[in-house]
Amino acid sequence: MAEAQFDFGLATRLDVDALGEPGRRTFRLLIRSGTSAALLWIEKQQLVALGLALEQVLSQVAPQELQREMLSLPSGLVTDFPLNPQLEFRVGQLQLGHDPVNMQFQIIAGDSVGEEEEDRPPRLTVRLGYAMASRLSQQIAAVAAAGRPRCPLCGEPLGDEPHQCALSNGHVH
Ligand SMILES: [Zn+2]
Repeated sequence: MAEAQFDFGLATRLDVDALGEPGRRTFRLLIRSGTSAALLWIEKQQLVALGLALEQVLSQVAPQELQREMLSLPSGLVTDFPLNPQLEFRVGQLQLGHDPVNMQFQIIAGDSVGEEEEDRPPRLTVRLGYAMASRLSQQIAAVAAAGRPRCPLCGEPLGDEPHQCALSNGHVH
């Protein structure tokens, strides 16, 4: 793939949030690297796939590496994201790379305009450390589940599968 138009380097903050009513929500990734900021509108399926891919790789990473990194991670709500980010687009193609040597992931995003043009460079490349990737995958899981009804007993979101409730002795409801 050609070199991206924007290389944000290592992300200093990466968040996901959802806007709108349950069932018709829109999702976005809020990316910051130093003083640079990018806002990426993303489909729910893409977001969930990204979260699962991160989770899958991270589950094979030594947990102590993850915990060491967790200590230096910023937390809290997304309240300070700039109103006019340098970059804002709707995600078309999304690629995830893994760099085990540097314990990082790379997200390469193209926009959804003119996807049929073969040699069009992607818009944004950004890298994230394992701890940030772990936090992101947890955020994605929480945000994706938030629109679904929850079990009145245990609070777990109810999906298409029958719910095996931890609080009702294996009773399926
Ligand atoms: Zn339950």
